[in-house]
Amino acid sequence: RRARSTGQLLCVAHDDECAEESEHWDIEMALEDAIHKSELRVYFQPKISLATGRPVGAEALVRWENDFRGLIGPNEFIPVAESSGFIRPLTEWMLNSALRLAGMWEHRWGVQEVSVNIPPCVLDRSDFVDTVISAQKLWYSATNKLCIEIVEQSFIENVENAFSKLNRLRDEGISVSIDDFGTGYSSLAYFRDIPADQLKIDQSFVFGLLKDRDNANIVELIVDLAHRFGLSVVAEGVEDIQTLSALKKMQCDIAQGFFIARPMPAEEYHEWLANYRGINASGVISTSGAETAR
Ligand code: C2E
Ligand code: MG
Ligand code: MG
Ligand code: MG
Repeated sequence: RRARSTGQLLCVAHDDECAEESEHWDIEMALEDAIHKSELRVYFQPKISLATGRPVGAEALVRWENDFRGLIGPNEFIPVAESSGFIRPLTEWMLNSALRLAGMWEHRWGVQEVSVNIPPCVLDRSDFVDTVISAQKLWYSATNKLCIEIVEQSFIENVENAFSKLNRLRDEGISVSIDDFGTGYSSLAYFRDIPADQLKIDQSFVFGLLKDRDNANIVELIVDLAHRFGLSVVAEGVEDIQTLSALKKMQCDIAQGFFIARPMPAEEYHEWLANYRGINASGVISTSGAETAR
């Protein structure tokens, strides 16, 4: 048996409980079985344009449905997958499953972007670009565009290598979004050559937007910075209408958050897309009645 990561994850406080817990549940070993037991799920969370109210795509977020543990969120097992190496097959599964499911979307909202999260250790692998390009070719659709979300930490080790991979993907029509922007290591010098299309402002700045002038300043600064370098901006963690309106005033391009919709299974997401009518001038989301996109 390989070293366990169970203890650290499940019980932070009590060592003896941990020892007992790990007798019954080895998260790392259970995770190894998750793909062939069909326990992984793709949830989708929509992103909407603040200018038009229209959906522009969705982020694919992994969930793990385990017989013993129920529905498990990624914060609980992505770190385990990263240390065990399972993150590579998991990412490949997500890429293929998200693109396959997106092929079933309705397209009355025009071209939609399907975003998949790519951690630094996966981006680092030499076969990464080929894996992404083959998934994109396999599930090709003229109305769905693949976007990969990477974090700033991807540039720490070998920035030239990371940039050249992102450039190869962009040459294939895949877009690149920098996730959790503002929390990691970023050098302003990157903005000259960063091969990205989009910045995603970290939730921590968005949550505090209305309460704290400093957070509002940071958001305005990121929007300005992004636009100066031809990048679009997504705000994630939009939980209320006031935040949505403030972001719109700040010229932020795209919003994602519980106020618009929570992440949901593919079938529910299809229903959400079918019923969505837009967002009116005062920022009210409408899922029925006349289309009010504006
Ligand atoms: P992330 O990529 O920054 O994803 C956004 C997270 O914020 C999601 O949590 C989403 O459910 C949550 N969120 C969205 N809107 C709101 C809101 O208005 N309020 C609040 N409080 N939260 C909101 P989730 O799905 O639990 O994922 C957490 C993190 O786990 C993700 O952060 C990402 O880093 C990682 N993750 C999720 N799916 C995958 C995956 O397929 N592969 C990898 N490598 N990482 C993943
Ligand atoms: Mg993300
Ligand atoms: Mg994020
Ligand atoms: Mg995050």
